[in-house]
Amino acid sequence: MQFRKSILEWLIIGGGIHGTYLSHALLKKRITTRPSLAIIDPNDELMGQWKRVTANVGMSHLRSPSVHHIDVEPFSLKHFAECQNCKQSFFIPPNERPSLDLFNEHSAHIVRRIGLHDIHVKSKAINIALEKDFVEVETEKEILKTQNLILALGQSEKRAWPTWAKNAKSENGNICHVLEDSYCYEKIPDSGEIVVVGGGMSAVQTALSLIRPSRKVTLLSPHSLRQNNYDADPGWMGPKYLSKFRRISSYRTRREMITKARNNGSITYELKQEVNRRVNEKTLKVLVNESLKCNVLMPDLMLLNLDNGDQIGSNYIVLATGYNQELPGGKLVQSLISKYDLACAECGFPITDSHLKWHDKVYVSGALAELEVGPVSRNIIGARMAADKIIRSQKVQKIPHLIN
Ligand SMILES: Cc1cc2nc3c(=O)[nH]c(=O)nc-3n(C[C@H](O)[C@H](O)[C@H](O)COP(=O)(O)OP(=O)(O)OC[C@H]3O[C@@H](n4cnc5c(N)ncnc54)[C@H](O)[C@@H]3O)c2cc1C
Repeated sequence: MQFRKSILEWLIIGGGIHGTYLSHALLKKRITTRPSLAIIDPNDELMGQWKRVTANVGMSHLRSPSVHHIDVEPFSLKHFAECQNCKQSFFIPPNERPSLDLFNEHSAHIVRRIGLHDIHVKSKAINIALEKDFVEVETEKEILKTQNLILALGQSEKRAWPTWAKNAKSENGNICHVLEDSYCYEKIPDSGEIVVVGGGMSAVQTALSLIRPSRKVTLLSPHSLRQNNYDADPGWMGPKYLSKFRRISSYRTRREMITKARNNGSITYELKQEVNRRVNEKTLKVLVNESLKCNVLMPDLMLLNLDNGDQIGSNYIVLATGYNQELPGGKLVQSLISKYDLACAECGFPITDSHLKWHDKVYVSGALAELEVGPVSRNIIGARMAADKIIRSQKVQKIPHLIN
């Protein structure tokens, strides 16, 4: 195990959208410098996880508007599109939502421009020790020391597998989860019955992307398809709802508000239109029901027993059932909580101060920060909101007389 001699000023665990944006914002706002900053992430490139899952589901456009991206300047993506001679069709309504290709090209451009590749430590953090004057983070290769740590771990290790699906998988059924690294649409047979399970954006996009003349694709959704253009009401991005949210001292009530505010399992207008078109032309079937059990007759022949007593056959099942709603970070975060008695709400998520400080030297972002940031914390805008808070805490520390 190697030890780095110098102590970093900032270390971010997780190089997804959140970790990448946070590192950029810390540099841009001159909170730190490149030699004093590092991002730990096991992927070959920053935002690798984002690129994989969005490609897996066959996403064409983001759900979020053009001002949500990983540059600090809000209109950067629009300006980038102009430079690239992109046509207006690279943005779709409402709110000029960018195409995934454009968003990814812009992100790669920012990562290159800021030189974030150079501070990417390609490894996984496996242990965190909070010492008196620094934090020690053990990765699979080395031990890094830092004055400040940000946990930006996403939810990537927590895909939701219904029990019937786990059982079918253990009996060698051809079943996979679209958000898993191992998912590969090329493994899916070109013909036969493909069942996609789920009722949200990922499920609908996956089902649409799998349509081929020789395949019969069925979307098995637990509810009728609900239309909503947003993951949560845009009022959650500003004071309209957040001022009240932050005045609530009960974290149980905050959790209830978050759950209620998220438009989970809803899809955008244009996807709904596309589903209707595909259903009308009979290239897609939508069944509103739930599977209770799956009999694996052969790996590529399964019978799903539905809640209403019906049975449907499938040669390949793709789960698009999202992530488990449990605390992200697995053992890494659990052991941090138990070793240092860090404050958590009843739901298990961190209780932080208003600057997302969970401990003297530890900050959180993304799902881990949602009891403070609110229902959009996991989204791209959540990364921008988290960075504002963390950076404000640094300015307050440096200029204490500005605190009112
Ligand atoms: C298909 C899909 C489409 C989405 N579309 C939108 C959209 O249009 N607009 C929007 O605002 N939001 C969208 N979201 C929601 C959200 O913006 C994304 O999930 C985003 O990727 C979250 O960023 P993140 O950095 O928190 O997590 P991730 O992108 O998952 O990144 C977390 C990173 O942390 C790493 N990590 C975890 N544990 C460790 C460890 N111990 N050591 C080192 N590294 C670790 C992981 O490997 C991963 O690379 C979408 C989500 C999905 C799944």
